Amino acid sequence: MKNVFQRIIDEELPCDKVFENERIIAFKDIAPAAPVHILIVPKKHFPNISAIGPEDGELILEVVMVANELAKKFKITDGYRLLTNNGEKAGQTVFHLHFHLLGGTHLGPIA
Ligand code: 5GP
Repeated sequence: MKNVFQRIIDEELPCDKVFENERIIAFKDIAPAAPVHILIVPKKHFPNISAIGPEDGELILEVVMVANELAKKFKITDGYRLLTNNGEKAGQTVFHLHFHLLGGTHLGPIA
C-alpha cells in the first residue's frame, strides 16, 4: 500500500503545496509543530535518510536549496531548523523520506 506522501505526490490526496518541481514537492504539515512547518519531500521513494547513497548527493543538495528558498519566502531566515527523523525510535511515522522545515518562533531544544 502507498504511504501518505506517495499519495500526495500522485495527487490522490490534497495538500497545501508551497513548492514543486520534477524531483521535490513541499507542503505544509497537517499538524504544525511551529508557526512555519513545511515538509520537503523528494518524489523518488526512499524510506528514510539511511537509504541515501553518494549517488543521491545532488538531490539532497537540492532539498537544502529548496529549504533555504522557502525560509526566505516564509520570512524565517532569522532562525529555522531542517530535520529528518530516521526510524521509529527517532519519531518517524511516515516511511517516505522527508525533511521538516520549522521556524517562526523560538525553537526549543532538539530532544
Ligand atoms: P515524521 O513523524 O515521519 O518525521 O513526520 C511525518 C509528518 O507528516 C508529521 O509531522 C505529520 O503531522 C505529517 N503528516 C502526516 N500525514 C499528513 C498528511 O496527510 N498531510 C500533511 N500535510 N502532513 C501529514
